[in-house]
Amino acid sequence: MQIEWIESQFFDPGKIANKMIIIHHTGSTNGQVNSFEGTLSWFKPAVWRSTNQASAHYVIAREERPIVQMVRDEDTAWHAGKSSWEIDGVLRETINRWSIGIELQGDGALVQYTSFQYEALIWLVKQKMQRFHIPIDLIRGHQEISPHKPDPGRYFDWDRFRSALSSVTVPGSGIPSDDFSDGGLVDEDGDGIIYVDETDDVYIPSGRDRNFLERLFDFFASIFKK
Ligand SMILES: [Zn+2]
Repeated sequence: MQIEWIESQFFDPGKIANKMIIIHHTGSTNGQVNSFEGTLSWFKPAVWRSTNQASAHYVIAREERPIVQMVRDEDTAWHAGKSSWEIDGVLRETINRWSIGIELQGDGALVQYTSFQYEALIWLVKQKMQRFHIPIDLIRGHQEISPHKPDPGRYFDWDRFRSALSSVTVPGSGIPSDDFSDGGLVDEDGDGIIYVDETDDVYIPSGRDRNFLERLFDFFASIFKK
């Protein structure tokens, strides 16, 4: 399994902790599952957009191809919106600040997910559980943390997914995982290239794609919001 890095412009630097994993679907339009390329360009538009800004950490296509990562695990992607869940006995809101968001291309009200998607998702989730000490209990669908949301829908096979992960032991569960010292991304030699340890051949540039003008637009958009 491989990961391809395509950075979204839509994220906040940093986050509180990776305590949860949230599963999403990319949805459909007029009965047709939205295209993979369409999702990528929604999260990384060629023309800057100051409204409907959204992103996820990972996107998994229906057909076999590398998983696309669009936001670093240590940064906050904009996938969950208004949301809440109890984490370690405390009701948390704005789950973006507490989670990794994974999008499956598809619509769980319409069609089954593909075998490749289960394989890729399980491969990816396993690593995140181990790296961030996330128990299986805190891997949830968007519809659970935001009850008005439909995804990943009734066609997502939770039994298949959970049974594949039942053997994963989460090291030191109960230990706060809000530091990223074990396996966090570190630019060791200061060249702006960060090595990702879960694959052999992926490099993440630490620079930000957003240019000055985009940041300016964003600034004014934030002033005029509400
Ligand atoms: Zn969603």
